[in-house]
Amino acid sequence: PQIKPRPVIRQLDDAAINRIAAGEVLERPASAVKELVENAVDAGATRIEVVIADGGKTLIRVTDDGCGIAASDLPLALSRHATSKIDGSDLLNIHSFGFRGEALPSLGAVGRLTITSRVPDADAASIDVAGGKMSDVRPAALSSGTVVELRDMFYATPARLKFLRTDRAEAQAVGDVIKRLAMAEPFITFILRDASNGDNRTTFRADAQTGDLFDALHGRLQTVLGREFAENALAIDAERDGFHLTGYAALPTYSRGAAIAQFLFVNGRPVRDKMLLGALRAAYMDVLSRDRHPVAALFIDCEPTLVDVNVHPAKSEVRFRDPGTVRGLIVSGLRHALAGAGHRASTTVAT
Ligand code: ADP
Ligand code: MG
Repeated sequence: PQIKPRPVIRQLDDAAINRIAAGEVLERPASAVKELVENAVDAGATRIEVVIADGGKTLIRVTDDGCGIAASDLPLALSRHATSKIDGSDLLNIHSFGFRGEALPSLGAVGRLTITSRVPDADAASIDVAGGKMSDVRPAALSSGTVVELRDMFYATPARLKFLRTDRAEAQAVGDVIKRLAMAEPFITFILRDASNGDNRTTFRADAQTGDLFDALHGRLQTVLGREFAENALAIDAERDGFHLTGYAALPTYSRGAAIAQFLFVNGRPVRDKMLLGALRAAYMDVLSRDRHPVAALFIDCEPTLVDVNVHPAKSEVRFRDPGTVRGLIVSGLRHALAGAGHRASTTVAT
């Protein structure tokens, strides 16, 4: 038998590490848009504009009016595990979307990335990365905020292109990501434009809301989920043992044939979590038949130490310190609102 050569253990270089990380979190254009828009929200932006072309495959450009990145920090922002969002190693106390310092280096490893940014009282500057190679920082023109442009997201990983859906489906996934984030941030203006074929069509627009949080949220949900949802939505506001539940849930008469309009957020972060969806279902158990599904946008807020959002790189799963309390809060908070609505209009709510 042939004797195999003794394997040699080598450290992967940064470019390879970044490309592997990119494979985990940047499956499709919508995942890149999610990372970039979250960065803009973290930067305190009040207006975030996203332009895509060809479903995001050839172009994603996110422009924000947030705090900006200092010219001298641009290379650092593109370095792996460099973040301005947590100090030291306090992974139990996360207040922002980001914290891993992975998105920008990963994007720079797979596509051609240009960041242009300006902080107050300084000149704007720009940096490029392609195939993991960084350019020097150079002067640029920009009045404020940050523009991150990603071209040819799959240029270093062409095999991945085969797994993408049509441009139309990818563009829709980008829209869904933006709508989800827009629900959680009613005071920020979100704009999505499609620049395919030299066009420049606005495909989604949600203007910043004013007023108190409930008014703002109601207005934003009307933009994202439609007037009919807004007209049939009950305000939810409940609290238990450090967990706060807010949002809007539709009357049972405005339900869906599939569980496709259930939007859950934990500390402002969109999540898909079996326990939370199960609690929502349980709350409507007595008022909806088995083949109908509630429509709701619910926000759970708590001290960051009561929840672990560090479960998965895509960060859509969460682990609560005390899941039973959260489940109970959702079931009782919703049932209370539904029962109140039943009193006011006992003819519309089946009992
Ligand atoms: P993370 O968001 O986990 O910190 P990223 O790779 O997404 O990691 O970003 C790295 C750093 O670059 C951020 O911590 C932040 O300091 C800076 N940054 C990224 N995008 C923006 C932006 N739009 N505005 C201001 N700063 C940004
Ligand atoms: Mg980030």
